Amino acid sequence: MTRPALPREFAPRLIEWQRRAGRSGLPWQGTRDPYRVWLSEVMLQQTQVSTVLSYFPRFLERFPDVKALAEARPDDVMALWSGLGYYSRARNLHRCAQVVMTDHAGIFPDSAEVLQTLPGIGASTAAAIAAFCHGERISILDGNVRRVLSRLLAFEGDLAQAGPQRELWDMAQALLPVTPTPDDMTAYTQGLMDLGATLCQRSRPACANCPVQSLCRAHRAGDVQRFPVKTKRLSRKFERWWLLVLRNQDSPGRARFWLERRPAPGIWAGLYCPPVFAAENELLDALPERMRGVLQALEPVAHSLTHRELHLHPMLLDLKSESFEPVAGRGQWVEADSLGDHGLPTPVRQLLARLI
Ligand code: SF4
Repeated sequence: MTRPALPREFAPRLIEWQRRAGRSGLPWQGTRDPYRVWLSEVMLQQTQVSTVLSYFPRFLERFPDVKALAEARPDDVMALWSGLGYYSRARNLHRCAQVVMTDHAGIFPDSAEVLQTLPGIGASTAAAIAAFCHGERISILDGNVRRVLSRLLAFEGDLAQAGPQRELWDMAQALLPVTPTPDDMTAYTQGLMDLGATLCQRSRPACANCPVQSLCRAHRAGDVQRFPVKTKRLSRKFERWWLLVLRNQDSPGRARFWLERRPAPGIWAGLYCPPVFAAENELLDALPERMRGVLQALEPVAHSLTHRELHLHPMLLDLKSESFEPVAGRGQWVEADSLGDHGLPTPVRQLLARLI
């Protein structure tokens, strides 16, 4: 494949546009503190800015620096992450803080090359931290930026394949400003993010307002939706789970729920959840006969994960004053008002909130 010519004017135009019209004033902007930049980058990986806006300050208030995070209890980290999804990010965040403390004397490495050796920091996140905090001349290339650049260059390579991904990364490097100051690198990196998030969106990109419209090959060809080229479709496996929701209300208004910690590795590893069964019969077999008749089937809940489509079938068992533990030693009773201190997957948190 012949490599498309790279427009030299791309970087200056992007920098000028970002300074004039890009996003500003977000709580993680205007700092060169790697802890804050790293935290925001990890939170933003699969989560909307509007959601991160409420989580970021709460997290910082509880863990103001890398030392506080490294010393935290895993449960406290998971509880603060609860609702953001993709929980491996929280586990990696915690491990990464510990590695920064033990192997790097509590100071984040300067270069993208070393940053990406840390847990949970991929090449694009490492580049963002190095560019924002140290002005390193290196390009990010997350999903949004791949979309922008593949359209800009009408890049025909299949981005489901490693070879074309590397090739696009090389071109992203070649598009960087030639002799940038640290402030230029901040504006350029933020500009790439802003263009992908606010104008060059997946469907119906706002090309009329785009600062690089006259350089954009896909736009010129009237073929924007063809890019990025990606042949492989993500196939999601369908899975059913039966949840045994044990509620104990020994006094009015004081509900407790039986929750077990999900095993690692696996879905929702380390989070708290009612006991899970692969089939309804298995759930019934776990109960004494006298309890089966009072089980209530609640409304099923569908929940999408990256590679799974989960269908949750909650079965409520009200224990009133009766004492019963499905598998002794595996779980614990959690008071309704301390559910917030436990890391709960979003659909479980929503389900239990309806039952308090
Ligand atoms: Fe994206 Fe349209 Fe701008 Fe091209 S002109 S980079 S397709 S917004």
